[in-house]
Amino acid sequence: MTRDILLENLKKYFGYDSFREGQEEIIENILEGKDVLGVLPTGGGKSICYQLPSLIMDGISLVISPLISLMKDQVDALEENGIAATFINSSLSLEAYRQSLTDIKSGRVKLVYISPERLENEFFRDFIKEVKISFIAVDEAHCISQWGHDFRPSYKLIAKLYDILGKVQVTAFTATATRMVREDIINNLKLKSPFVRVTGFDRKNLSFQVQKPKNKLSYLKDYIKDHEDDSGIIYASTRKRVDAIYKSLKSMGLAVGRYHAGMSEEERKLNQEAFIYDDKKIIVATNAFGMGIDKSNVRYVIHYNMPKDMESYYQEAGRAGRDGEASDCILLYSGQDIIINKHLINLGRNPVYKKIQLEKLQSIINYVNTSTCLRAYILNYFGQEAKSTCDNCSNCLSDVKKQDATVDAQKILSCIYRLDQRYGLNTVVECLRASTSKNSIEKNLKAVSTYGIMKDKSKTYIKDLIGLLTADGYIKVSGVTYPVLKLTEKSKDLLFAKEKISITIRQEDRKKDSKNTSTNDDSYDKNLFKHLKAVRLDMAKKRNIPPFIIFSDASLKEMAQKKPQTEEEMLGVKGVGDKKLIQYGDIFLAEIREFGRRKL
Ligand code: ADP
Repeated sequence: MTRDILLENLKKYFGYDSFREGQEEIIENILEGKDVLGVLPTGGGKSICYQLPSLIMDGISLVISPLISLMKDQVDALEENGIAATFINSSLSLEAYRQSLTDIKSGRVKLVYISPERLENEFFRDFIKEVKISFIAVDEAHCISQWGHDFRPSYKLIAKLYDILGKVQVTAFTATATRMVREDIINNLKLKSPFVRVTGFDRKNLSFQVQKPKNKLSYLKDYIKDHEDDSGIIYASTRKRVDAIYKSLKSMGLAVGRYHAGMSEEERKLNQEAFIYDDKKIIVATNAFGMGIDKSNVRYVIHYNMPKDMESYYQEAGRAGRDGEASDCILLYSGQDIIINKHLINLGRNPVYKKIQLEKLQSIINYVNTSTCLRAYILNYFGQEAKSTCDNCSNCLSDVKKQDATVDAQKILSCIYRLDQRYGLNTVVECLRASTSKNSIEKNLKAVSTYGIMKDKSKTYIKDLIGLLTADGYIKVSGVTYPVLKLTEKSKDLLFAKEKISITIRQEDRKKDSKNTSTNDDSYDKNLFKHLKAVRLDMAKKRNIPPFIIFSDASLKEMAQKKPQTEEEMLGVKGVGDKKLIQYGDIFLAEIREFGRRKL
């Protein structure tokens, strides 16, 4: 297979001119009949790695995908590109199910999506024996590993298929990088001398930011006001917090949805769909949301609380900007997050597990406290070398300084001591800042010798420093009902100035930090972009498919930049392949022309 033929197919079906890192080699190896393991970051373009060869090879490829709710979208997206595909799952009516079987048998379709559980079905296993399978593609392959974060026992059924099909070619894809997970995938899927390709983990279009706002909710509201046309995910650590943020954003009149395990399945499904279909631009969710969500136009992911480790953070944040367009990944941090996370881990019983969790937590504590490049920190964490500055993270773009905080730390530690190590974060802060609140009066904080000794410092600063002291083991959290702050053996080292501590001080001006926001990009006509988005939404509603399946934001932006006037020019826009040109070319060309005329 020559390179030209691959590129021709890439343009014809997907509308792209070049491959992304790793795609071409993976596709070549699949075409040579090899088993493959592809490890590409979220948004790295794994789907094309198996979709393109399935078009070229004889027979159908069987795609094992974990989420039934997304199969329809995946198949719709393929059909929009002119690729015949189908899915089989429990959501199908009997009629639709029969139609799928007929389409598979007749060879009309090239790809068939199924969930791993389908392999338990006796009838399906008999049926599949009669079908010519080119290869099996296992999506989200880390689900097969107990070390992965989404273990699904039914993935183990895949290897059992070889008993009936013989050893078919298998290709597996994941974004999870750890070696243990990779080994598990190879062993459990019984991959035979596989071609393994792990690409770099950098997502250049993502701007990473750590912010410590005085008030997280006001920060969030301001950000959303500045990005009202954009779609985004807001992650919070608890259901209660999700509900509170949701309510608050809703009261601003925003189209917002929510998602957490305390809601009914029906409610969750409706909210997820409304988000995918752009009916609700924003979703507030716990980390239960997101697996397999391939909405490509998520422009920001904001973490309202610090996640429990770096792996979870990168995976969740990585849901921004799958279309390659500039997007923001913002972590709103406060010292309290460290205390709560430590408290939760402490409540666990298994000491080995606790130790691992604490180590993992430390990885993200270090992330929020580093004053060096955030991207470099992430890449190094995943074992990849990186330049020391990226010019696209909050540390590279703003003044971040390390400031000695030893004296302030000593004041905090003595306050905890003077309060008999009986209270939590808020009371300690109130005491230090000479609060006159009800709590302060009730506890008679005024009588404590450390009352008011940090009057001149902000609450955020003190909380940050307490978080840092907890992270570094100078303070421990204990207590069953709520986290109580106590001193440790190590506290003495700081109290008696044997050790020093410094804290990262950041600019609070958010605007300075976000170079990546669409508002700062003058390279395209923003009004036309907005108009084309509205046209897309209208069309998506009529056709009952998610808008980003029609054209990605990246495609619309390029149209708003190049303003194509002819079909040929339209075909030059990335993401416009043959089928999309036929289906939507005229409509969008007419809108662009009309828009130009109106402006004259
Ligand atoms: P993953 O499954 O790895 O998270 P996807 O397969 O969903 O990522 O791809 C993410 C986005 O990147 C999709 O919008 C896809 O169309 C786009 N994409 C994939 N390959 C290319 C390419 N070679 N050039 C431009 N965009 C691409």
